[in-house]
Amino acid sequence: MATPLVQIENDQEIKQRLEAERNRLRKIAGLDRPNHFQRPSERPFIAAERDHVTILFGGFTWKHEDLIRAVFHGAGYRCEKLPVPDVPAFQIGKEYGNNGQCNPTYFTVGNLVQYLQFLEKEGMSRRDILENYIFFTAGSCGPCRFGMYEAEYRYALKNAGFDGFRVLLFKDSDGITAASGQPGLVFSTDFRLNALNALQLGDIINDLIYQIRPYEVNKGETDRVFREMVDALCDDLKHRHSFELDKEAPNWAKPVFSRNKRLQGTFNLLGKVREHLWGKDYFNALGAARERMDSIEVDRTRVKPLVKITGEFWAQLTEGDGNYHMFEFLEREGAQVIVEPISTWIAYLIHQAKANNKTKWPVNRPYRDPKWWELKKHFANDFKLRKKLMAITVGNWVYCSLYRRMAKNLGGLAHALVSQKELAELAHPFYNNFARGGEGHLEVGKNIYYTVHKLCHMVLALKPFGCMPSSQSDGVQSAVVNKFKDMIFLPVETSGEGEINAHSRVQMALGEAKMKAKAEFEECLKTTGKSMDEIREYIAEHPELKRPFYHVPHKAGVAGTAAQFILHVGDRINKDTRGWKRSRVRVETAPAMSGD
Ligand code: SF4
Repeated sequence: MATPLVQIENDQEIKQRLEAERNRLRKIAGLDRPNHFQRPSERPFIAAERDHVTILFGGFTWKHEDLIRAVFHGAGYRCEKLPVPDVPAFQIGKEYGNNGQCNPTYFTVGNLVQYLQFLEKEGMSRRDILENYIFFTAGSCGPCRFGMYEAEYRYALKNAGFDGFRVLLFKDSDGITAASGQPGLVFSTDFRLNALNALQLGDIINDLIYQIRPYEVNKGETDRVFREMVDALCDDLKHRHSFELDKEAPNWAKPVFSRNKRLQGTFNLLGKVREHLWGKDYFNALGAARERMDSIEVDRTRVKPLVKITGEFWAQLTEGDGNYHMFEFLEREGAQVIVEPISTWIAYLIHQAKANNKTKWPVNRPYRDPKWWELKKHFANDFKLRKKLMAITVGNWVYCSLYRRMAKNLGGLAHALVSQKELAELAHPFYNNFARGGEGHLEVGKNIYYTVHKLCHMVLALKPFGCMPSSQSDGVQSAVVNKFKDMIFLPVETSGEGEINAHSRVQMALGEAKMKAKAEFEECLKTTGKSMDEIREYIAEHPELKRPFYHVPHKAGVAGTAAQFILHVGDRINKDTRGWKRSRVRVETAPAMSGD
């Protein structure tokens, strides 16, 4: 028998029936009680644990890591750096992690699990590992897989049997003012200033190694000297004098400060900043480091192609299997590598914060559409934005000035930080500056910057497999290469395997870069009008030219170190010859002394 048709009288009834049906279906699907994802709550790291809990961290170069570890030690923490991630770590990451992650995730997550497994093999119980170690790492809200790192660490640790192992986050969006939220780890003023010093020192030292080692006369000297020098700087960071106002203030001022705690806090902070940035100990340590580095003998007449490294943050930084030991390979093949400092990334974050504030202001301003006569509201809108931009500009200026100053104190050879404004402007026609994730527009911007300013012979982009932002950049780079015809650009996808293939591709591109460097050198030699023998003879007579920190002025349009160097030596020879001729003329035409 057919179901009788139900008469529906009006719209209201239709709505009610729809709602009732919707509720019935939601109940069946369990959507009436949604089970939202909750971030797992972490067991806190408390102050009482400081003397027996070791903080683990990693993911930078050995220079950065040693210096950062010294800062932790100086602040009274137990701290250890993880080994450089290798292929077995990558495999462990694949075994215990989620499918479809990017290369750095597998390497870094696997590296932590591998280290904990090593501790276990050494005889430590799992319970002791969970109690006595924590991992400290960077985190982000995305949009690339960086946003998933924290969850991925937890997932892999759980699968590997280390459920409950603590992962402490330092979010990139919080910048250097981050607070861990865990009272066990306190970012005091001394700690922050020392960490800032360690980071910039690591960047500059890393840059210097790659500029000096390819030209060292005595093989192995650079590595040895830098090892000793970094150890000495670590010692300084660890034992650096901490300014405390109640000890250092003159006796007459002490009662004033003890009455006014706020004033005391401000002066204490200023004293600490002064001590860290202008203190005698700090300058002495930098001076000693500079002298050590300057003792390495170099021969800058060796013609080498200059290879600028770009790519994803971790892939362009790590010095191991994570990028096929690419820097070592390039140096073995006769190239000079220009590495990227972490500070470029920090400057990028600051630049983006400024650009975002400006762009979002129409929606973020406190008063949406004030009438033209509401001057107070207009002022408030304008003032708030300007205040924000000013704070960011000052922050950026301070960071870059400190970097410049440190580079100068360490010999003046390190590359300056590239202008973020220029990078953004160069990249924008190809890659929108507001497309976030990974290196954003930086890969494209750097490729163009180093090519148009003739600062290298070849750009090598190291891109991890499965990297979303790098895949975007790669697509864009084909348009870039089409526009800049003399660009030698090679993107290499890094993974846990395929090292031979990657090296052979690099070798091919390097062949072209070598020819470019040689042609440039020969052209420069011709313009000096000197032979190589004359140049070498002059260098032998002037030992200061064999010092790494001897300043060679940069000639625009010339990339190679050897080409720049012989141009300068040629100038010096000409200058000396002119000076000698002038002095001869003066002697020959000088009036005879009375009595002669
Ligand atoms: S930038 Fe790429 S490789 Fe790096 S975390 Fe994001 S997705 Fe992974």
